[in-house]
Amino acid sequence: MATAGKVIKCKAAVAWEPNKPLVMEEIEVAPPKANEVRIKIVATGVCHTDLYHLFESMHKDGFPAVLGHEGAGIVESVGPGVTEFKTGDKVIPLFISQCRECRFCKSPKTNQCEKGWAADRYDVMSVEDSRFTCKGKKVLQFMGTSTFSEYTVVNQMAVAKIDPAAPLDKVCLLGCGISTGYGAAVNTAKVEPGSTCAVFGLGAVGLAAVMGCKAAGAKRIIAVDINPEKAEKAKVFGATDFVNPKDHSKPISQVLFEMTDGGVDFSLECVGNVGVMRNALESCVKGWGVSVLVGWTDLYDVAARPIQLIAGRTWKGSLFGGFKSKDGVPQMVKGYLDKKVKLDEFITHNMTLAQVNDAIELMKQGKCIRTVLSVSPQ
Ligand code: NAD
Ligand code: ZN
Repeated sequence: MATAGKVIKCKAAVAWEPNKPLVMEEIEVAPPKANEVRIKIVATGVCHTDLYHLFESMHKDGFPAVLGHEGAGIVESVGPGVTEFKTGDKVIPLFISQCRECRFCKSPKTNQCEKGWAADRYDVMSVEDSRFTCKGKKVLQFMGTSTFSEYTVVNQMAVAKIDPAAPLDKVCLLGCGISTGYGAAVNTAKVEPGSTCAVFGLGAVGLAAVMGCKAAGAKRIIAVDINPEKAEKAKVFGATDFVNPKDHSKPISQVLFEMTDGGVDFSLECVGNVGVMRNALESCVKGWGVSVLVGWTDLYDVAARPIQLIAGRTWKGSLFGGFKSKDGVPQMVKGYLDKKVKLDEFITHNMTLAQVNDAIELMKQGKCIRTVLSVSPQ
């Protein structure tokens, strides 16, 4: 490769500060260091967690950064010590690592590797770990990945090698939203055949949770969203009912309680709102109901009356759908290639990286499920 070992100058959408549009800039991407892989990003989705960083969390120390964490690409070059990857491999960068050696990786109970960048914080990589500079300033890598850039550098423990037959402009969605929602139902909630489920929030994450509930054999899947336009889409993924909380004067948990003769077996919160998290818990049946937090927020405390849990409900959370990342993502890619996992149906818009601010605006207004941005030609 002509570029191996050299700094690459390329285009990236830089978030210079919170609450401002991203700016297309030329950035420098350093060559990969030991155990690192430099990836040419071909396509990326835009996920609500990118918007959360830009507009909601607004921690000043998280900027400037290159956002994007739902991408797919091709290995450009590898650093010393990398044996698992070679130039030309199709890959998905992962926002949580799987080192296969730490006590968390060795336990079948969790996907939270302690060796990766995310062991300390969940938003941006440290300045030392980022390989990006722009206008003489170090730029941070959001969620360790930064897929709103033509090139990025990621440690090999946070890269999944995928089937060369996989279309990158589709399977990029498995880098976050779809694996997250699907896995939250299948791996974290462990939805059972014949059960009744409720999914709150029908973005890509919630719709993927609906798909996961269906795959697990749920007989009734109640999709809940305040945007009535989501009803039709939810059916495509297997929802049997749609409820808009705004159509009811009673609390949504009461509505679901009456619809299901006492509450659902499983509920998944895919909004990122602590009030909805509470509603989702309270919508579960006593005795065995399980409620899973998937939506992302670290701004407020979440509350519930203790009796909800004392009465036998379980409240849990799910990061990246509970998938051990390097193992899970290639399996999900296979599921797509075998036509067991839908991806195309999530994509409502296709744009280029230069149009990223338009894609962000669409998501803010609830007008898209997923926009896929083409980043570099293959
Ligand atoms: P999105 O913005 O596309 O979808 C959110 C949906 O929630 C929208 O359809 C919206 O209308 C709906 N909604 C808003 N308020 C509601 C309410 N009060 N009741 C019911 N529905 C409501 O977002 P997305 O990309 O699908 O992401 C969903 C959430 O998942 C975000 O919080 C995101 O940060 C989080 N997330 C978590 C993980 C994880 O690993 N846990 C990974 C990816 C994304
Ligand atoms: Zn995401």
